[in-house]
Amino acid sequence: MATRSKKSPTDLASVKGRLHTRIAKAPSLFIALDYDGTLVPIAERPELAKPTEETVKILQTLSTTSGVCLAVVSGRNLEILRGFLPIPNLVLAGLHGLEVWPLVDRPASRIDVHVVRAGLDRLIEAVKEKVEGGQLPRIEDKRHGVSFHFRGENPPVATKMRSLVTAAFREIEEGSGLILVAGKQVLEARPEGVDKGTSTLAIQDQLAPGSLPIIVGDDITDEDLFDAYAKKGITVRVGGGTKKTSARYALKKPADLVAWLGEIEAVWRERGGG
Ligand SMILES: [Mg+2]
Repeated sequence: MATRSKKSPTDLASVKGRLHTRIAKAPSLFIALDYDGTLVPIAERPELAKPTEETVKILQTLSTTSGVCLAVVSGRNLEILRGFLPIPNLVLAGLHGLEVWPLVDRPASRIDVHVVRAGLDRLIEAVKEKVEGGQLPRIEDKRHGVSFHFRGENPPVATKMRSLVTAAFREIEEGSGLILVAGKQVLEARPEGVDKGTSTLAIQDQLAPGSLPIIVGDDITDEDLFDAYAKKGITVRVGGGTKKTSARYALKKPADLVAWLGEIEAVWRERGGG
């Protein structure tokens, strides 16, 4: 996999004209977007991270635009994503690509979800045992992945919870086929060998080959995505300031992405001539 060395990204606003020219000249577009922190601001509780009407509207428009394949690639499960984004033509990849609609063949298709589930059950049990009646982190069970959330906790409490989950994971790790991945105020256990990069490449390969990829994310797990597309397309990180990333460009906040998606749609509509 081509890996771009991590650098400070370029402000997308300063190169928009150039990017729009590139977009207008592309044969077709493949737009893959993360959800939390990218399309919607991170919410205090994950269930509150609803998209705005404007966000749904532009996704709806792009998903039915000829020559555009639009996908949302998230760590959430498919059911939740579909609840937030009930958009018929939108491609949805949940759990970093373990669950994808519509069905595409990808490395994650070959994972034994029963083994995964058994490992996750052991992990949840191990965490509960370690807490011994103390305060549990908020557990989000995503069926083939489990997130332990620390958002909103006092920093010392969050630190304690974090080390406890890590210790519990070490106990169940062997033979579980699981990895533990850190995100923003969260630790997530999920199947090894599933990442947004390989999943998204497989989706594009089967649904939008030859298209110009526009790839947008905000978090650590999106770096896999940026690495996978380092030499192939337009990679954009939302937020994160000057923090180093494999993404080439940066937008400040989800609202900026929603506005830019509107501009992309206009560029695509007005390019004429196909
Ligand atoms: Mg995110």
